[in-house]
Amino acid sequence: MNYLSDRINQLAESETLAMTRRSRELRAKGIDVINLSIGEPDFNTPEHVKTAAKIAIDQNYTHYPPVPGYPELRQAIANKLKRDNQLVYTPEQIVVSTGAKQSLANIILSLVNPGEEVLIPAPYWVSYKEIIKLAEAKGVFIEGKIDYNFKVSAEQLEAAITPNTKLFLFSSPCNPTGTVYNREELKTFADVFERHPQVFIISDEIYEHINFRGKHESIAQFESIRDRVIIVNGLSKGFAMTGWRLGYMAAPLEIAKACDKLQSQITSGACSITQRAAITAMDTDPSNSPDIRNMVEAFHYRRDLALALLKEIPGLRVNVPDGAFYLFPEVVRYYGKSYGERVIHSATDLCDYLLDTAFVAIVPGVAFGSLDCVRISYATSEDQLREAIRRIAEALAKLA
Ligand code: PMP
Ligand code: GLU
Repeated sequence: MNYLSDRINQLAESETLAMTRRSRELRAKGIDVINLSIGEPDFNTPEHVKTAAKIAIDQNYTHYPPVPGYPELRQAIANKLKRDNQLVYTPEQIVVSTGAKQSLANIILSLVNPGEEVLIPAPYWVSYKEIIKLAEAKGVFIEGKIDYNFKVSAEQLEAAITPNTKLFLFSSPCNPTGTVYNREELKTFADVFERHPQVFIISDEIYEHINFRGKHESIAQFESIRDRVIIVNGLSKGFAMTGWRLGYMAAPLEIAKACDKLQSQITSGACSITQRAAITAMDTDPSNSPDIRNMVEAFHYRRDLALALLKEIPGLRVNVPDGAFYLFPEVVRYYGKSYGERVIHSATDLCDYLLDTAFVAIVPGVAFGSLDCVRISYATSEDQLREAIRRIAEALAKLA
């Protein structure tokens, strides 16, 4: 008898985390797996941030923190938004949570009623669709094509909006495509939203600092829609702090209060020690931080390296991502090919084949709303990256 709720039965496991789990299991059996499936910097947290956490423990920051975050942290985030993004928020508009993932869940559950539509450009990050399912809302996907660097246009956006559209949700830089929308493109989106005042916008900016084309642009900069934009960000990517679990949102006051209330019943807020360390991270100006600069330079170098190596593999099509740390090659030319008994019908078959025979873990595009592509994270050392792509090339060459 299946006694679990429909809610949980309908929910998919995070495919990125599932692939990582499978590669950990193989590694535990002594197999030398290269894991390019998880989106996490291979760098360590900057020393000054770690020191702040150690001091916080010694100063006994071990009690329940305020649910939306320590006032000093909310102030530090407001300062960061002013310093890095020229955006003015009061600390009351900031809610700190246990990761950007939780901020997204807070906002979606606070804003969307069952049956309402949430518009999402595809390919999209794996958890968007599932959190929307939990909210019993309806995901509506706008297809971005590889020929246009996976960008969607204002015309596509306009055509997808209905009176039932409540929310638009996107990431730039994008996970999984690395696509970065520029100011002009965001302005065309803002113009569309001006005509549809019922639509709120979640701008997931967690890859803000991992941008190879220059200045990060936020859709929150457009005053005419500002009272409907919610920024989501966090420390996982920019500060190499995935395990610390800290994210935040900057929102219109009423939405911030709603998320505070939700969080008060579900998590009681983010870890006190992490929050104290986060104050130090937020006070770090990324343009003056050797830690962040070195990490982003390394990602930029590896992007170019991985692109060059993948381009040598026949049958793959790759766009040039401007940010994040993923490549999203199209692999359809391998569909229908086989190696022995093994026939490749889909990107999922291809990823299984590569994991089983080349011991390289990557994620099938279906997790991100694309049947044609696979996601490769290049947040790993240059040696591992070269070896992984060598193995992928070798395994693909065996398919006929
Ligand atoms: N948004 C995007 C686009 C992501 O790639 C991730 C995962 N790194 C998150 C949100 C969640 O990040 P976290 O919960 O680690 O802050
Ligand atoms: N967001 C990262 C990824 O896309 C981490 C895994 C997850 O949170 O699902 O791989």
